[in-house]
Amino acid sequence: MPAPTTFVIAGGGLAAAKAAEALREEGFDGTIVLVGREPHLPYERPPLSKGYLQGGDERQKIFVHDAGWYREHAVDVRTGVTVTAVDPAAHQVTLSGGERLRYDKLLLATGATPRRLTVPGHDRGHVLYLRTVDDSDRLRATLSTARRIAVVGAGWIGLETAAAARAAGVAVTVIEQERQPLLGALGPEIGAVFAGLHREHGVDLRLGARLAEVTEEGVRLADGSHIDADAVVAGIGAVPDTDLAAAAGLTVDNGVKTTADLRTSDPDIFAAGDVANAYHPRLGGHVRVEHWANALNQPAVAARAMLGKEAAYEELPYFYTDQYDLGMEYLGHVPPGTAHDVVVRGDVRERAFLAFWLRDDRVIAAMNVNIWDQGDQLKALVLAGSPVERAALADPSVALERLVPSGA
Ligand SMILES: Cc1cc2nc3c(=O)[nH]c(=O)nc-3n(C[C@H](O)[C@H](O)[C@H](O)COP(=O)(O)OP(=O)(O)OC[C@H]3O[C@@H](n4cnc5c(N)ncnc54)[C@H](O)[C@@H]3O)c2cc1C
Repeated sequence: MPAPTTFVIAGGGLAAAKAAEALREEGFDGTIVLVGREPHLPYERPPLSKGYLQGGDERQKIFVHDAGWYREHAVDVRTGVTVTAVDPAAHQVTLSGGERLRYDKLLLATGATPRRLTVPGHDRGHVLYLRTVDDSDRLRATLSTARRIAVVGAGWIGLETAAAARAAGVAVTVIEQERQPLLGALGPEIGAVFAGLHREHGVDLRLGARLAEVTEEGVRLADGSHIDADAVVAGIGAVPDTDLAAAAGLTVDNGVKTTADLRTSDPDIFAAGDVANAYHPRLGGHVRVEHWANALNQPAVAARAMLGKEAAYEELPYFYTDQYDLGMEYLGHVPPGTAHDVVVRGDVRERAFLAFWLRDDRVIAAMNVNIWDQGDQLKALVLAGSPVERAALADPSVALERLVPSGA
């Protein structure tokens, strides 16, 4: 009897679980082996810096599926196991226990890992990172006893951590080297909104500040000042986990490079989620994002392609955050370093507004802050990609529908 067709999924996060699910939904009845380094079934990370960190969300709610689901769908889940090597020529992966597994198709869903501090004192025990549920448990325990913490980096993880710490009554200093929080993601105008939000909630936000050292009692900045802290949380970005791919000789450039159907430079190896730098036909270039929605939706495309069906990932990048009483969604893509303008509609001071990123008078990204009934219109505007009048865009009395050309 010929050996059953075997698909191996390297990685144990949201993208991995969704790939197993999509393969079964597409009717694949061969063997699926999902290999994840963490000792847990695949789970979702957004609650780890929000509800779960603050003690609101129950632990079982973060898992993508329970153990029964994997059994019922005949998915062989190996938790606490690392894929240590891929041999594309032999169609084999090596696992941390030494076992070698043959695959017909392989999906890399290895995600990303936090960028580490490198300043003197970076390895002190009170330096924490936030990526895994174990990290979140550790941080939650710290917040229950700490009087003050320092957060390095005013990106999404740093700011959500600051909000959780303030909710726990912990004093927070955020250290950010740029002139505004979230500068790279949202630009100075909208970054300033987040600066105001955190300052209003009592965060000591140090902008344009460089970390020089982690000390026994906190952190020292490049200007010589010292900030006392019982713990230091580093939220300075993440790097795609490309070691396996690179060692296997796949094309790696800001993640594992793939075509629109998420196929890597090897025809039998695919990539999805945070690790994939995928060609995006709608955006006309390669895009790698570290977004929950991407890890949720890309695997269905990878699964189809692994089964030899036609597929292309064309969803617009989508991201959300919750901080204090501010909830926001962001849809679209502003390539880093490209010229653009921002138009705002609504009340920025009240933190209920829409923002539009424009290039050549076309909306390339849109964001809603504490406004929840215009998602479809915002998406239509970004998808239409046709010129819009700025004054009309900024004017709340002009319905957004009127700005979308009919038929778009
Ligand atoms: C704290 C936090 C909050 C977030 N909040 C939001 C949010 O509000 N909104 C939003 O849009 N996005 C958010 N994100 C981003 C979102 O969670 C990620 O985009 C998503 O988790 C990516 O999923 P993934 O499966 O591609 O990778 P990951 O979640 O990184 O999973 C990859 C898994 O594979 C494992 N692995 C790696 N290498 C190997 C190997 N060689 N062998 C076996 N296993 C391996 C890793 O240990 C990891 O468990 C947040 C992320 C974090 C960390």
